[in-house]
Amino acid sequence: MRETSLDIKQNILLAQYTSWNIGGPADYFFQPKSLIEMKACIQWAADNRAALTVLSGGSNCLISDKGVRGLVVNLNKFTGTIVEEHDGRLQIAAIAGTPKSELLKIFLKYKLAPALFLAGIPGDVGGGVVMNAGVSEQMEPREFVEIVDWIRVLRGQNVHTYTRDDLKWSYRHCEGWQPGVIIEVGISWPLTPDDQILLKVREANTTRLKKQPLDKPSCGSVFVNPEGGKAGQLIESSGLKGTRFGDAQVSEKHANFIVNLGKATASDTKRLIQHVQDTVKSKTGFQLKTEVVFLGE
Ligand SMILES: Cc1cc2nc3c(=O)[nH]c(=O)nc-3n(C[C@H](O)[C@H](O)[C@H](O)COP(=O)(O)OP(=O)(O)OC[C@H]3O[C@@H](n4cnc5c(N)ncnc54)[C@H](O)[C@@H]3O)c2cc1C
Repeated sequence: MRETSLDIKQNILLAQYTSWNIGGPADYFFQPKSLIEMKACIQWAADNRAALTVLSGGSNCLISDKGVRGLVVNLNKFTGTIVEEHDGRLQIAAIAGTPKSELLKIFLKYKLAPALFLAGIPGDVGGGVVMNAGVSEQMEPREFVEIVDWIRVLRGQNVHTYTRDDLKWSYRHCEGWQPGVIIEVGISWPLTPDDQILLKVREANTTRLKKQPLDKPSCGSVFVNPEGGKAGQLIESSGLKGTRFGDAQVSEKHANFIVNLGKATASDTKRLIQHVQDTVKSKTGFQLKTEVVFLGE
């Protein structure tokens, strides 16, 4: 490996950077704090022929027990926002690693509607774009596509800008920006305050707490809702609530969540995912697809 002034660490366990608390080591691991450092680590990966994997909030990933070969770039320190009022809209330029909870705070301060769907979705702004994160409840807005104006993507050493309409958005997916690292996201919403917004956010949080096993490590919903069905209901009606492989368990509280009871491995979790897919298919005919992203060897 070539000498570098960057503080690139070796053999860092990735479980600690995920909401599931699962995953083996990264060969190389770096947390850029600026665009200059981001460019430098991408150059380092290119010079050393190391594969590059982005891990942001780590709230939608299942990382292999063997870990991730090459360089993992973690965005926990790649944060910051600029907030402006322009043309009757609140405009936010957010560095990709900014937690969604920071966006939520900004929207709450201005009493604006996006606060409601953002309440309770973990992870970062860039991860929100990649996953077109959102909620199934009828509310406006309910997905990232509705609040994003543009994104900036670093590909090699060059920055490319895409407007919302340049991209292809679908349920829990956004395409048209790859390959690269999303480094910044432009977001806006009309400055039309809703005096009830804080109350609504509190109610949404209470409902989530009642319905979801938020006291245990998970990645949220493991499966996307298939056309014409709800993954959670299909799993529950297939009798799978509570099914357990090792310390990975289909939540007793919300069947679309797989929780880590303590020492769940990626291999336990993958076997459980497969078991759920096979059982649901044979009992209901629905083929469940995963929402969670698999990273690593
Ligand atoms: C308790 C709980 C509840 C949840 N509820 C919801 C919900 O209601 N709705 C919902 O949609 N999701 C939900 N999720 C899932 C998850 O929070 C979202 O998908 C979130 O948007 C993922 O963001 P992240 O920063 O954690 O992404 P990560 O998990 O870090 O990454 C996800 C994928 O995006 C890629 N990626 C991330 N950032 C970048 C970047 N800047 N550039 C390039 N690639 C990048 C990663 O390589 C990976 O492939 C929940 C998760 C948990 C744990």
